[in-house]
Amino acid sequence: MAKPKVAFYWCASCGGCEEAVVDLAEDILKVVEAVDIVFWPVALDFKKKDLEELPDGSIAVAFINGAIRTSEHEEMAKLLRRKAGLVVAFGSCAHLGGIPGLTNFYPREETLKRVYLLSPSTNNGEGIFPKTEFDLPEGKVTLPEFWDRAYALDQIIDVDYYLPGCSVPKDLIVNAVMAILEGKLPPKGAVLSPNKALCDSCKRNETKPEKLKIDKIRRVWEFEYDPEKCFLEQGIICMGPATRGGCGERCIEGNFPCRGCFGPTDQVRDQGAKMLSALASLIDTNDENQIKAIMDSIVDPAGTFYRFGLPKAILDRRIH
Ligand code: SF4
Ligand code: SF4
Ligand code: SF4
Repeated sequence: MAKPKVAFYWCASCGGCEEAVVDLAEDILKVVEAVDIVFWPVALDFKKKDLEELPDGSIAVAFINGAIRTSEHEEMAKLLRRKAGLVVAFGSCAHLGGIPGLTNFYPREETLKRVYLLSPSTNNGEGIFPKTEFDLPEGKVTLPEFWDRAYALDQIIDVDYYLPGCSVPKDLIVNAVMAILEGKLPPKGAVLSPNKALCDSCKRNETKPEKLKIDKIRRVWEFEYDPEKCFLEQGIICMGPATRGGCGERCIEGNFPCRGCFGPTDQVRDQGAKMLSALASLIDTNDENQIKAIMDSIVDPAGTFYRFGLPKAILDRRIH
């Protein structure tokens, strides 16, 4: 019997999600044995025309990582959607917009200026910026259009399932592939990870006092914190209350607070708003000035609360 065809593709991505597939190590053999990889340009020599030549709907599942930021990402996502029975948004960037989504705080021109002119490692004295078309003696060359904002995958194409995480943990990938192969998938639209907050499975949860209160926000490098106690109890922002579980508490296990890469649970519309309200309820004072001072001490609140999900938040960009 023919094996199901599978495609992997990346859009605006750091490459970490592609690494996550490679890092399956011996588990990748289980995947490779069970499926026929028909498109994975980052790892194997596939071209766009290879994909175009496949019949529509002939790929069982396309795993797409990265946010959608350029006209090429849109074109490839739509092409994969046409060719695949199932599309899985793979990793935080595809699921929620991810780190590339943070550029929604800046207009396109400011982003380009930062990258091509102002970054410390750039030497661009002539002020050359990318163009979508350029004439060379050999003919016209083109580049994709860089959009004014980034999008999560489901803001551009219909998505069947979501694999969360920056990057997606190995066991979630293997479980998802096996569930797809065995036809044991939850209803369309599900995030393939437990629908419970990270705090529920975090072993530091037990260290929280009955009534948790904080009077100061502190950053991890500012003091020697207790590696056994809940981060929030020590005044360190940990996104656990507003974040879906299922990662094995991997940051907490590394003695680092959760930054929210799994996104919110199904019950939460806006992860950042949920975390802000959780934090506000812990502040141990009714004095308005003191509350303001505590909240003002949060460095980069937008980047802290919306690090992985700005394009999917209620306020999804800065209006210029
Ligand atoms: S989710 Fe994280 S690891 Fe994956 S592409 Fe985005 S930034 Fe990279
Ligand atoms: S806030 Fe963070 S450290 Fe505390 S219980 Fe939740 S996930 Fe664990
Ligand atoms: S602890 Fe938080 S930031 Fe770290 S992997 Fe888990 S969900 Fe992501």
